[in-house]
Amino acid sequence: MPLLGCIADDFTGATDLAAMLVAHGMTTVQVIGVPHGPLPEADAVVVALKSRTAPAAEAVAESLAACEALLAAGARQIFLKYCSTFDSTDAGNIGPVADALLKRLQSGFAIACPAFPANGRSVFQGHLFVGAALLSESGMENHPLTPMRDANLVRVLSRQTEGGVGLVPFAVVEQGETAIRQAFTRLRDGGRRYAITDAVTEAHLHALGRACAGHALVTGGSGIAMGLPQNFRDQGLLPDRSDADALPAPRGAMAVLAGSCSRATLAQIGLARLHVPVLELDPLATPDAAALLAEAEAWMEGKLSEARPVVIAASAPPEKVAALQQALGREAAGALVERALARIAAALVARGVGRLVVAGGETSGAVVQRLGIATLRIGPQIDPGVPWTYAETAGAEPAGLHLALKSGNFGARDFFLKAFTA
Ligand code: ADP
Repeated sequence: MPLLGCIADDFTGATDLAAMLVAHGMTTVQVIGVPHGPLPEADAVVVALKSRTAPAAEAVAESLAACEALLAAGARQIFLKYCSTFDSTDAGNIGPVADALLKRLQSGFAIACPAFPANGRSVFQGHLFVGAALLSESGMENHPLTPMRDANLVRVLSRQTEGGVGLVPFAVVEQGETAIRQAFTRLRDGGRRYAITDAVTEAHLHALGRACAGHALVTGGSGIAMGLPQNFRDQGLLPDRSDADALPAPRGAMAVLAGSCSRATLAQIGLARLHVPVLELDPLATPDAAALLAEAEAWMEGKLSEARPVVIAASAPPEKVAALQQALGREAAGALVERALARIAAALVARGVGRLVVAGGETSGAVVQRLGIATLRIGPQIDPGVPWTYAETAGAEPAGLHLALKSGNFGARDFFLKAFTA
């Protein structure tokens, strides 16, 4: 039975959290969408929803359903994971979902901590910084879906909940776990429902995590999760594990599928071109998923190998993306490429690919759906936030696929090469 049951508001955020838990000694499985049926064995289960920008009522309903499944499986603590830039609007969904979870858990108080100093997200006097810039001057103020125009998280969260929001400031956090616990008690007794907590070092995150032992609900980014596994070890519930990230031995041919047009991915393709076979699809010249699949199938003939990967990419620079969007419309352009890449993924697996890297958040979603994957066991990280994972592909022969799902802008330039030596 899982000790920690997590609900993440998007797919790559779920993976990021899962990788953090594995790195701190909990075996972890990521479940895609609200789980139906029994959950796989693991110390932590992370349910990946797509609720960040859904209507608040929908996000609440899905999160409650996920919570129900996690509680039924025996989870002792629920973790609500959102982005380290607190991506949300005045309509939600952090406040409404946290309110609903607290009510379900019959609890009246939770921490809200997006800080992750190692990734440049720190909170000071309740204000969230991205690097040296206030959140509201970090570029996030221009986000198309969740523009963050106020860096004061006490104010931001207050606008999303009827519960009171207080602050545990730096001076208290700096004193450590006991002082933090006392501050939590004062806030709770003073009628506050949430505590925004300052954190500018990893030691702060560990102390905050320890102070959340016994809380029914913890909310935050993946950073605050680093202190939670130790709580379960202290309670004698979690054995010391040196192999929490162990996966079955990799097998089969190696391939990379890229549908991200982000700068990092374009650079990764550029470097891969010098070392391994690369097929660059041109959806503008061939705006047809079946034809793109046929082209890829003909190309992969005789090229698939267990010694080095092949790369198949639809990724293109901004002017080419704009041209296809102009020809087909934004939605249809994305959907066409996603459909083609998802079908190519199935073709690769059918031809013996057992190790697959997918670049692009939406692209990863399309591939995982097409391959019918419901759960991913989380393994070692290749680069920060991108672990190898293992999917048991039911009924397939041979069963099991190693997958690395990379958010477009993640990973070093040699990611597509080093992934297969990791
Ligand atoms: P990221 O993680 O970088 O945002 P995503 O996969 O989430 O990557 O989004 C990239 C989107 O761009 C996908 O919908 C994909 O289908 C689309 N796309 C990929 N290649 C092209 C292209 N050549 N022209 C237009 N759209 C493309």
